[in-house]
Amino acid sequence: MWSPTEPVYRIATPTPAKAWRSRDGRYRLVGNRCEDCVLPFFPKRRVCPQCHSRSLTETVLAPYGRVVSAAEDRTPLIGHVGRDSRPFAIVALEDGPCVLTELVDVDTGTDAGGEGGPTTVTEGTEVELVVRKWRREASGPYQYGYKFRPRRAR
Ligand SMILES: [Zn+2]
Repeated sequence: MWSPTEPVYRIATPTPAKAWRSRDGRYRLVGNRCEDCVLPFFPKRRVCPQCHSRSLTETVLAPYGRVVSAAEDRTPLIGHVGRDSRPFAIVALEDGPCVLTELVDVDTGTDAGGEGGPTTVTEGTEVELVVRKWRREASGPYQYGYKFRPRRAR
């Protein structure tokens, strides 16, 4: 039986080639925008679902948004040793599209967030993009990508 102390399994992990090809939408929110009806998309689309136009231009979306809905995943996950839950949220980006993303630096309810500690996330919480470890590639190195954390004052 699987237990969280076992080493990382090399199953269902991306190959280095696949990880390389998907790098564009992982570190930044590289999406695209319809040239005819100006709708933004993330991830990129080939055809606009509204006007069926094929003229879409690549655009980098702003790394900020608001939480629409937040939840916790308590499924034991291969490769996430020592973590009993992962906070997730649907984030509505400032530019329009929504992304399903993992949250970091948030209070998951397992430990109390003191002053300067993790923040409790509710609907409407402003969040910003950060680059964090996602998982391990089939060849060993870690794959990094976007996650969101409560927005900090600038
Ligand atoms: Zn369109």
